[in-house]
Amino acid sequence: MNTSHCNNCETEFEGNYCFNCGQKVLANSKLAFSNIVKDFFDNTFNIHKGFFFTFWNLIIQPSKVVKSYIQGKRKTYTNPTRYLVIALAALATMQYWAQMNEVINNDNFEGFPFLSEELNNSARLWDLRLLTDWTLLGNLLEALVLPLGFYWLFRKLKYNYSELLILSFYLISNSIFITILLVGLPKFVISYYTPTFFVFGMILVYYAYALFNFFKEISLLRRLIFIIFGLIIFFLIRFLLIPLILAVLFPI
Ligand SMILES: [Zn+2]
Repeated sequence: MNTSHCNNCETEFEGNYCFNCGQKVLANSKLAFSNIVKDFFDNTFNIHKGFFFTFWNLIIQPSKVVKSYIQGKRKTYTNPTRYLVIALAALATMQYWAQMNEVINNDNFEGFPFLSEELNNSARLWDLRLLTDWTLLGNLLEALVLPLGFYWLFRKLKYNYSELLILSFYLISNSIFITILLVGLPKFVISYYTPTFFVFGMILVYYAYALFNFFKEISLLRRLIFIIFGLIIFFLIRFLLIPLILAVLFPI
């Protein structure tokens, strides 16, 4: 095994990692099957960097996890984009195994009284599509839309959109894991249908708790009102405006 130069970028080694590209000295040894197994788990579930540690900390102190990342402490918890990808993959798996879509299909979409029935129906179908067959698009849109209201309401705190996007990625991901635990798991294991309003309520409580801690520099009452407003803005855009725009652009 050649331990003097990195096989990836030819830089001379100092210590256990290449200081130029980050590759391990160990990568210079002959490839073994165990490397592939370890790589698979590292890259898909990110277990070595504490996926479960990140999940748990996002439940008990979400604000701390998000702020660590924003403030540049980026190796302690699973990276937010990777965390979202893991959540989306887990959701796709669970939807396939537990047929979670059956549960969601009972959801009702009210629509706008001032719009034609045709447009309302199309919007309703788009709303369902984003919750079931097109969850990847649905969740990405949710993640992008969630920061908007909060960016505007809490502008005094000078967070930029990207920083709030980190908050959004972590929260949306954990709402996916909460859905999997509350809907997918009971359906898969004991064929129990968890009521949608209960899951929705739990996610709402989780969001409110996380946001309440995240914006703690703002006085209590103001913060409460802003969070309620921010969540209303989010739900209006995500569940009414986006399905409507999609219905106008691509009628079903
Ligand atoms: Zn290197």
